[in-house]
Amino acid sequence: MNNNQFSILGLKDTIVKAIDDLGFTKPSQIQEESIPVTLQGFDLIGQAQTGTGKTAAYGCPILSKITKSEGIKALILAPTRELAVQVNDELNKLSKYEKTVVLPVYGGESIDRQIKALKRNNVDIVVGTPGRVLDLTKRKILKLDSIECLVLDEADEMLNMGFIDDIETIINHTPDERQTLLFSATMPQPIAKLAKNYMKADVKHVAIKKSSLTVSKIEQNYFMINNKHRLEALCRLLDLDNPSSAIIFCRTKRGVDELVEELQSKGYVVEGMHGDMTQVHRLTTLKKFKEGSLNLLIATDVAARGIDVDGVTHVINYDLPQDVESYVHRIGRTGRANRTGTAYSLVTPKDFSMLKQIQKVTKSTITQKAIPTAEEIHNKKFNNMVSEIKSTIDEGDFSKFIPSAIELNENYDPISIIAALIKVKFENESVFEYSSNKLESPSKKEDVRLFFSVGKRDGLTPKVLINYIKDMTKINASAIGQIDLMENFSFVTVEEGVSSKILNKCPGGKINKKRVNVEIANKRKK
Ligand code: ADP
Ligand code: MG
Repeated sequence: MNNNQFSILGLKDTIVKAIDDLGFTKPSQIQEESIPVTLQGFDLIGQAQTGTGKTAAYGCPILSKITKSEGIKALILAPTRELAVQVNDELNKLSKYEKTVVLPVYGGESIDRQIKALKRNNVDIVVGTPGRVLDLTKRKILKLDSIECLVLDEADEMLNMGFIDDIETIINHTPDERQTLLFSATMPQPIAKLAKNYMKADVKHVAIKKSSLTVSKIEQNYFMINNKHRLEALCRLLDLDNPSSAIIFCRTKRGVDELVEELQSKGYVVEGMHGDMTQVHRLTTLKKFKEGSLNLLIATDVAARGIDVDGVTHVINYDLPQDVESYVHRIGRTGRANRTGTAYSLVTPKDFSMLKQIQKVTKSTITQKAIPTAEEIHNKKFNNMVSEIKSTIDEGDFSKFIPSAIELNENYDPISIIAALIKVKFENESVFEYSSNKLESPSKKEDVRLFFSVGKRDGLTPKVLINYIKDMTKINASAIGQIDLMENFSFVTVEEGVSSKILNKCPGGKINKKRVNVEIANKRKK
């Protein structure tokens, strides 16, 4: 526990122990910067993207400082019921060696239960949505006059949801000398104003730049494959790169289990990690992976959330994730601590629009590469072997094998001996029977479905739309496929090759006075 890097931040031992149990070994940037300041009692404005560990950033110091006596000591406001539940769960885990009582309160659940819980008078921390907190406060069930610390979590989101007045009213029910912590991904004017009005003048700012979440040092590639070749494509990549530390992502727990089994049966040393495995099992696997005795880890998005390992060389998306944020989270497992990393995505024609979406949102380039041919893999392995032999000769540390060499040399010619040795070594290395030299790539031209913000109500007909697209882009009408006209908008399916042109050139113009916007359509639910 002492080598847990959380132990130097000034937190109570029991909290550090709970952190360690959660498998966090190293504070995230926002945690490292905000925990000491918060422990000292300063007000704090923390600006960081989602997924950077803000809950523990404020949760740990609050739990460290809280004293058990009558009255609610901390109030945490979060925009939605789901977030309130998540925060509540995390605080419960972090306080497992303490007697702190945390109570979540949110709308949509029986207020009577929450009233009853509050009347027991043993609650130390309330986590709630502004509407329900205000309701309970007005009924004088929730008393805020003993609050020492107030947290506004995801303040910008609460603003978007129209909670700003409720929040002000709630703040006015708390003591002036409280400590106020405000977390927000962005700082729109009303939030800045709120901070100015309700936080102390010596408030500290911690802003974690977006770049710490993104992807600049990560080389991103994708490979176009037929779905039936997914496994072989993965094996070829593993054989070529021979990664020393790779996380391979699957979308589902079953996907993880299946891939683990398939790879193991082919002789790869891999282990899986997902939420159905016991905490002990997951921690043991993670430990092996961190120590380097396990090179390949197969995981779901959820299981990989807590993974913080330096030196991951490869992230491989065996399936693409369902949303952009997960992609960023996934590939952020590599390229840490200023190291470079490689992210590979296996992409079928069906995934193509998601890939585009990812590139657009992350403003990064994902370069297409071809799955290596059997020949390329053999050549690379062969070259590796030759350089291994050369460096062994240079090091000169093989005298004990000389007698055997002399014996072989008496019976065979040297070229045959060397070739035979290489053959033995080579055959030990190749684990996969490739189906062919070159893996065939998907033949079907990919179509992309685009959303247009104009519809029948704007007098749109297929002809009007086609002419508009042709005028703006000069593309051939044959690249335009199916058109679905709706009342207020429409969908147009086009060939992949022209989609970016349409996305670039078509928005901003007008059709029958209605301004045109174009986006990649959301994927239809499968
Ligand atoms: P945010 O509020 O910034 O969106 P969360 O607090 O929800 O982020 O944390 C995101 C995930 O990261 C959670 O699953 C959490 O348990 C995990 N996490 C938080 N801090 C660490 C850490 N220091 N090391 C590893 N995982 C962490
Ligand atoms: Mg959060």
